Parts: sequence; C-alpha cells; structure tokens
Amino acid sequence: MSFTKPIPAYLAQRYMGWRATTFQENRGWYRRLAEEGQRPRAMVISCCDSRVHVISIFGADQGEFFIHRNIANLVPPYEPDGDRHGTSATVEYAVTALRVAHVIVLGHSRCGGVQGCYSMCSGDAPELEEKTSFVGRWMDILRPAYETLPDADEATRLTALEHEAVRVSLRNLMTFPFVREAVEAGTLTLHGLFNDIAEGSLWTLDPPTGAFQPV
Ligand SMILES: [Zn+2]
Repeated sequence: MSFTKPIPAYLAQRYMGWRATTFQENRGWYRRLAEEGQRPRAMVISCCDSRVHVISIFGADQGEFFIHRNIANLVPPYEPDGDRHGTSATVEYAVTALRVAHVIVLGHSRCGGVQGCYSMCSGDAPELEEKTSFVGRWMDILRPAYETLPDADEATRLTALEHEAVRVSLRNLMTFPFVREAVEAGTLTLHGLFNDIAEGSLWTLDPPTGAFQPV
C-alpha cells in the first residue's frame, strides 16, 4: 500500500483526545457494545453532506442508529440484477438481519446532489449526462421528479426537488419485497424527514397530505 500515508497529525491528536476522555469515561459501555453486538432500532439514510449531522441532531449514542449516507439520500428501486448495489445492500441488512423498527430518510436543504440533478435536467450540466459520470447516473434516480416540479422561482423548485428526493426514496423502499412485507406486517415503519441546515429546523413528512410539517 505504498500509495497511502499515515493520517495528518491534527487528526491523530483529535483521536488521542477522544480516547483519553470520551472513550476512557465509557469503557464499560464500549465493551458491552463489542460483546453484545449492535441492536439499532432505527436505520437512517441521509446525504453524505458534511453539514448533515445525524448523530448530533438526535443526540444519539453509539449503537443507536444504523446509518447509510450517499449523495442526496437516495434509495434506488429494487433491482436484483447481480450488480453492486451498496445502498440496497444496507437496506437489506438493516431490515432482514438487524430487523430495525424504523427506516428514516433524511433530506436536507442546499443539497449539492439535488442541485446537480436540477442542473442536469435543465440542460446546464452536460458533463453529468455522460455515461461515465457516477454522480449523473446516480442522480437519474431523481430525474423523473424534475418533471413534476411547480412552475415557480428556482429556489422554490430546488427545495421542491429536495423534498422529492425523500419521497422518491420512500416509494423506492417499498419496491423491496422484504421492506413491503415488514411494513405490511407492522414490524417496520418508514419516515420522511427534512433538515434545513441554516435554520436547524426539522420537518416531517405528513402521511395524509404528503407535505412536510415542522417537528
Ligand atoms: Zn445533500
């Protein structure tokens, strides 16, 4: 592995600080987690965006959330074609092996992935149309939603597309047979959330209306 290097000094120092404080004060808890294995009650699917701080928003501890992050918090439809489906693998593991009680799709404001999809669909980002663009082909999951956007100013349309990223993922989750079965059996519930980064606000998808309401 001659192409790798040790981590930068500032990261090593931060780690030493964590080990001397947080870890040292909770040694028993960490040992128990290691010995008993994980039993998270919820899976969270959120964006990779560094500003979306799932753990911090919910004040969560180790072992509480099974978290999957990808660009624009998208879940692709069920496609058992033998290809490498990272997101589908995490959903399968969470629902069939860990038997989580909740799957939460957490969208967010100012999402770069959604912006990219918007630009691609508007014809402003031809590079994302290339077959070799991993981001572009990933954002194809959201592409059909672009056609449903309201006739409004760009900021409103972008927010609407960010909301659609959550709805599309929830609908796609239901195309997985093991997800649908667990939902219909009442052992699994799906939830849609939206985090406004600047306001620190959290919005929840209201089932009857399909709109986002403040938590
Ligand atoms: Zn994002």
